[in-house]
Amino acid sequence: MANQRTVVVGAGIIGLCSAYELALRGVDVIVLDQGATFESASCGNAGLFSIGHYPLTKPGASWRGLRWMFDSASPLWIRPSFSPALMHWLWTFHTHCNQAHMERCMRTLCAMGWRTVQALEAMLDSESIDCLYRRSGWLDLIHDDANLDAAAHEGRALSPYGYRTDRISGAELRRRDGAYRDEVAGAIHYVDSGIIHPGQLVRGLAQALVKRGVEIRTNTTVTSLTRDGGGRCVGARLASGEVVRGETTLLAAGIWSDELASSAGVRVAMQPARGYHVQLEGVPQLPITGGVMRETFVAYNPMGSQLRLAGTLEIAPVGRPWMRKRMNALITGARRYLHGIAAGRVTQEWAGYRPCTADGMPVIGPVRETPGLYIATGHAMMGLMLGPVTGRIVAADICGEPQSIDEEVLASVRPGRLPR
Ligand SMILES: Cc1cc2nc3c(=O)[nH]c(=O)nc-3n(C[C@H](O)[C@H](O)[C@H](O)COP(=O)(O)OP(=O)(O)OC[C@H]3O[C@@H](n4cnc5c(N)ncnc54)[C@H](O)[C@@H]3O)c2cc1C
Repeated sequence: MANQRTVVVGAGIIGLCSAYELALRGVDVIVLDQGATFESASCGNAGLFSIGHYPLTKPGASWRGLRWMFDSASPLWIRPSFSPALMHWLWTFHTHCNQAHMERCMRTLCAMGWRTVQALEAMLDSESIDCLYRRSGWLDLIHDDANLDAAAHEGRALSPYGYRTDRISGAELRRRDGAYRDEVAGAIHYVDSGIIHPGQLVRGLAQALVKRGVEIRTNTTVTSLTRDGGGRCVGARLASGEVVRGETTLLAAGIWSDELASSAGVRVAMQPARGYHVQLEGVPQLPITGGVMRETFVAYNPMGSQLRLAGTLEIAPVGRPWMRKRMNALITGARRYLHGIAAGRVTQEWAGYRPCTADGMPVIGPVRETPGLYIATGHAMMGLMLGPVTGRIVAADICGEPQSIDEEVLASVRPGRLPR
């Protein structure tokens, strides 16, 4: 495989981690990205390296979505539309929101979770990337007493996979960390996870790739995938008309992957789930670690001297202007849990898209009907965390190495499961 060329479309966390693992194996890699700077969801996310995270298709999630659909300030909002693609996606999503599907997903996600930590830590060590990574766990932060038991139950459900959680009372939480308000009832500590500065990770990884001889072309829009007369994918066509050729092509273009895949006759049906972040400077006491505020769905992460608040899930077509009231809901949602939010000065506001499949699982692997084409996308709320292990899976596929996870367990992320 060494010296054969792979064209990677997309320099988000998935494309870059894949490029990294391929470069380690001696593959000649070129990465193409339409952006000028790194600013996709991979940089704007909450930065929770939350191994063992549940997929979006939790039992009951579709009913909750339906209830919230008509409230555009709610954490999960679906912009009303009669688009057949959206209707089909919603119906498929609904049919996957059940316990049996979740258990299947968790087997795969948990197997990937342990490996992604190994892959991330090996990468950070050998490339000396400084991205504020700390294995400090994350907190499911609970405001209302009534929600403590359900949260603890969710945490305990991960113990068969070897993940540890710790129930912390409100008083103990405040003894450990003075950032939390007296009204907070307690927290579930997901001990094995970590927090990270996602932008510093992505930029650090891009620099490490360049040092390793990988070419990264920014400001380079791919308009279609190119096939030869036999239907094999042989590279990517750029807006300039140039074709960048390679023996293999990896499509890792986040929410834009579906459109590009369709140029090679392949469907990867996804919906864009927009999320927001706001960054605050001058919050008097930053929390020691990050987490998610259970009742308001706001994620928080201390990043240097700043606090990032992130969240909301808005299913709406790409390109619509973002909504002020949804951005503001992050600050309002955080005030109930953390001291001093009102004192914070806003330094950054951002919105971007999570690529979401209808069964809640990513799509990783070779496309059987189009030899030479590989896909890695659809990581929804887990792409930062699953990026490093996705890179290893992709590299093993492309280089013909055995996978470290059983193929039967990987079946729930393989492209073959998708409807034709
Ligand atoms: C608010 C928010 C909070 C989140 N929090 C977390 C978290 O705490 N933990 C976690 O694990 N995950 C989190 N996520 C999810 C995570 O950010 C995504 O799953 C992940 O970033 C997806 O990575 P990606 O590389 O697939 O896509 P992207 O980051 O979208 O990258 C795709 C890249 O492809 C490029 N591209 C697209 N089309 C073309 C084209 N035609 N030509 C060339 N280039 C192209 C784009 O410019 C982009 O750089 C969060 C997401 C959001 C929005």
